[in-house]
Amino acid sequence: MFRFLSKISLFSKIFKECRELNLGPWQCPTFVFFILGVINIVAMVSTYLIAKYYTEPEFVALIVIGVAAFFFLISYSVTQGFSQLAQANKMKTEFVSIASHQLRTPLSAMRWIINLLEDNRVGEMANEQKSYLALIKEENERMIKLVNDLLDVSRIEMGKVLLRPSQTNLYILIEKTIKDFAPLAKANNLEIKLEAPETLPNVYADPGKLSMVIQNLIDNAVKYSRGRGEIKIKAEKEGKFVKVAIQDQGVGIPQDQQKQIFQKFFRSDNALKYQTMGTGLGLFIAKSVVEESQGKIWFESKPNQETTFFFTLPVYSL
Ligand code: ADP
Repeated sequence: MFRFLSKISLFSKIFKECRELNLGPWQCPTFVFFILGVINIVAMVSTYLIAKYYTEPEFVALIVIGVAAFFFLISYSVTQGFSQLAQANKMKTEFVSIASHQLRTPLSAMRWIINLLEDNRVGEMANEQKSYLALIKEENERMIKLVNDLLDVSRIEMGKVLLRPSQTNLYILIEKTIKDFAPLAKANNLEIKLEAPETLPNVYADPGKLSMVIQNLIDNAVKYSRGRGEIKIKAEKEGKFVKVAIQDQGVGIPQDQQKQIFQKFFRSDNALKYQTMGTGLGLFIAKSVVEESQGKIWFESKPNQETTFFFTLPVYSL
């Protein structure tokens, strides 16, 4: 029946989604919802017909009780399903959190040993060995970043994002991040320009987390520029907020995938093609940090022309 129904276009759309989630037809919420609707209509029509021909009210009341009991059972099993799902989701988040914590310790130990070797504290290394060590260091940093991102995601999902907001100088934070990214930008033939008044008001945000957000947005602008055009960063006061815009002239985000861009692990097709490294976690974390700080984050993108990511944060006031 599943195959037959799949041929009808509405069903094929419903089932495609469920098949992607490895769900059978009777576990597929949209399908179950549809079947319930049909049963509801059939039950109402048959109750009407039965009531028309068997006029005894006891008989009709019995049917109505039977139908109500049937729906009660169905809703009980649906509720059970939801609580099982919530439980599984909680266990998954806890697993990610524990695994990331456990991975952090050996990775930090590795970083410590790499630094020891790099500083020649356990003997001089040949140039070729040094270049291999540099590669190991790069991969180690990447793994530490991934583990930290996963830890942040699990904290967000457990509702434990700990922000320590304070008076933060956004101008200095952006300027410093631009300086940090200058070598990478130069290697990609790009220039990062900042347009902001030095009198930009301070914002009320967690400086460490905010710095992560700015780093992620600039990193994305560099990564997805493909060495094309320039990167413009603008910051200005708008009412009780400071608005920041980070614009690049890179690959852009395909129209049909724009809705998913802040979803966890989501990476657009073109990004996957041009830039194989990436986790799809940065924007998910950035959105949570900005929104937890009472700001907003959004973007505008014209594929293959330009992309601008915006965010706002409240101005610090006494
Ligand atoms: P990552 O960059 O590691 O893939 P992010 O969460 O930072 O993860 O970004 C998610 C996705 O959003 C990217 O994979 C890419 O498809 C898209 N994206 C983000 N910034 C840009 C940009 N400036 N230009 C084009 N696509 C972008």
